[in-house]
Amino acid sequence: MPPAALQPEDESLRGTTYLIDGQRRLSFGSNDYLGLSQHPGLMAAAQDAIARYGVGATASPLVCGHSPEHEQLEVALAAHVGLPRALYFYAGYAANVGLVPALVGRGDAVFSDALNHACLIDGIRLSRAELHVVPHADLGALDAALAACTARRKLVVTDAVFSMDGNVADVPALLALCERHDAWLLIDDAHGYGVLGPHGEGTLAHFGIAGVNGVAPAWQGRLGRLVYMATLGKAAGVSGAFVAGDPAMVEWVMQKARTYMFATAAPAMIAAALRAAIDVIRHEPQRRNHLGALRTRLREGLAAASLPWHLLPSDTAIQPLIIGSNVDALAVMAQLDEQGVWVPAIRPPTVPEGTARLRISLSAAHTLAHVDELVAALARCPR
Ligand SMILES: *Cc1c(COP(=O)(O)O)cnc(C)c1O
Repeated sequence: MPPAALQPEDESLRGTTYLIDGQRRLSFGSNDYLGLSQHPGLMAAAQDAIARYGVGATASPLVCGHSPEHEQLEVALAAHVGLPRALYFYAGYAANVGLVPALVGRGDAVFSDALNHACLIDGIRLSRAELHVVPHADLGALDAALAACTARRKLVVTDAVFSMDGNVADVPALLALCERHDAWLLIDDAHGYGVLGPHGEGTLAHFGIAGVNGVAPAWQGRLGRLVYMATLGKAAGVSGAFVAGDPAMVEWVMQKARTYMFATAAPAMIAAALRAAIDVIRHEPQRRNHLGALRTRLREGLAAASLPWHLLPSDTAIQPLIIGSNVDALAVMAQLDEQGVWVPAIRPPTVPEGTARLRISLSAAHTLAHVDELVAALARCPR
């Protein structure tokens, strides 16, 4: 159960500590990977937009909810990830639930990684396409399933960075497979955007496929079946999501996705804050570098403490410490809580049976001393 009424302890602490019933907790639970949720530049951009637009968008984007702020945001998002066009959604959940049924329907087939996020699964269910669940990151199994499928349209769906494991999908291999089998590829980069890539462009740039300099020469003309999606409430620090790719595909999604058409647009202040966030993400690599230093500190600290639990390999902000049983994971979470450290225990069905874990989530707002505090608290937990 989430703790009730989290309050930031002190703005100068940038959202890494909270007061719960008056007691301090150092938190490793947020997805604010770059520490942008309380960035003064983003806050000022939002306030400036409030002065010009008020606080509400008043209607769906297709009616009159799409302001110049939204338009400029979409242009900036497309330029950042190096794809021709982008479309902003008010939430990542809504984007996926609207996107999949816009792309496929009855008679089509979807191939979904076993560890995909819940909202991709819900989008697939709503689409009424035939579902093939593929074992996690098993390219051989995916190849065989695609080869055996006679559906009219095929869509491969995957998290780019898996939300509970922190590992990165092999996007170049997936693109090549989809090319070979004439399938579409939807990647959900909720945990890669802002964190991976030299300019925080996300997983595509991590693999040298596309980024601030556009599509890499080796991939030109080969991304027509790529549907890129990323959320903006995590590393970007605000809220919402976007879909990017081929202009005709994006136009199609805009005209077909029910969660886009039949929902009120996000307020212009959100779009303005996000445009400021893109600037910070692009131009402040020190935030990603600091995140890397925190990761190293955690991994080295935990190795030196020789705990009975192991970290999954992960080059992202998500550092899962596998505990095993639900009872043990909850006990460690409670023991950390007593020491003033908050790390959520993630249990089945969110993760596979027997792999209950502490999902340690690092943020550039953490200091090295914060990580040391976590390691020391873990070392004091009874085994
Ligand atoms: C968080 C998340 C979403 C949902 O995004 P929201 O903006 O929080 O609705 C979608 N996909 C993945 C992989 C996520 O981790």
